[in-house]
Amino acid sequence: MNTAILTDKEQIHLEQHPTPEPDKGEVIIEVAYCGVCRTDRKCYQQGQRDLHLPRILGHEFSGIVKSVGQGVENIAIGDAVTVHPGIACGNCNNCKEGNDQRCHDMKIFGFHLDGGFSRYCKIPASGVQQGILRTIPEGVSLLAAAMCEPLGCAIHMTSAIPDLNEKSVLILGGGVLGTLMAKLLRYEGADSIVITEPVDYKRDLLCQLGFHPTLPQHLNEIKKELTIDGFDIAIPCSPYSECFATAANQLTNGGFLGFFSGLTDDNMIDKNVLNQIHYKELTMKGSYGCGAEDTKKALKLIADGFPIDDLPVNLIPLEAVESTLKQQETNHALFTIIQH
Ligand SMILES: [Zn+2]
Ligand SMILES: [Zn+2]
Repeated sequence: MNTAILTDKEQIHLEQHPTPEPDKGEVIIEVAYCGVCRTDRKCYQQGQRDLHLPRILGHEFSGIVKSVGQGVENIAIGDAVTVHPGIACGNCNNCKEGNDQRCHDMKIFGFHLDGGFSRYCKIPASGVQQGILRTIPEGVSLLAAAMCEPLGCAIHMTSAIPDLNEKSVLILGGGVLGTLMAKLLRYEGADSIVITEPVDYKRDLLCQLGFHPTLPQHLNEIKKELTIDGFDIAIPCSPYSECFATAANQLTNGGFLGFFSGLTDDNMIDKNVLNQIHYKELTMKGSYGCGAEDTKKALKLIADGFPIDDLPVNLIPLEAVESTLKQQETNHALFTIIQH
């Protein structure tokens, strides 16, 4: 079986699909690695706004070019590539302004198009033309290249921060994205990064990466130690309303709130929390996914030595994908990646 297909909520089937043939302008990728992230879990467990069923999930993947259709230039059989997972229309105002991730006509692998939970993936001609296939530079592994999408999402968020210089940063949630965000901000020169994470093993991993994770109830003490009345920047990297509330409450006047993680619980946000945005004159910036430039930057960053190889990875076979999607981040590795 070489393909996992989601037909309905919590209904995933393993099937054997023939190797696809490329039409004019298309490229067929033999997928090497594909990340399984929290969004995939959400698609499987609850559905997702952009998900169209039946669908082969997977939007974080790398592989080798298996075949190319007539007229394809710059990409050849045997090239190692990573895939930017979105194909935008290229014509609307959002696209023209370089905000392709906001395109209303966006087609995303694993949501509107079949993605990397399959041995082979067909890249439509429009995507090939837009340059969503990036040749992996020498020195970057196919495994590291599969992490370009999550890193691109972190880059998309951090590039909206007006100024990092001598700023205190609070990250809420030390999962894959919280950890990548913290590593990225440290790489970009933030000197004071505090991460809250309630799960013991994730705190241990963060310690191994040189961070000093804490629990939300210790934040007031930490602010005293840092001699600050509030954080300059707070980014909730967790889907719980509680983390959003903590972020708003812990920011200083004029602070920056990065609304990075969509909220998935059913709790209401208290008006006293929202009023923090008003009274403290916070700047709130939403960030959803990443644009084509962000994943391009991610690949370049990894090639330039951004340390991504030190993150623990749990490699799984395709057969284990359903049991992984059923879990609530219970696995002890940060990244879970399918190895085809
Ligand atoms: Zn993802
Ligand atoms: Zn567009």
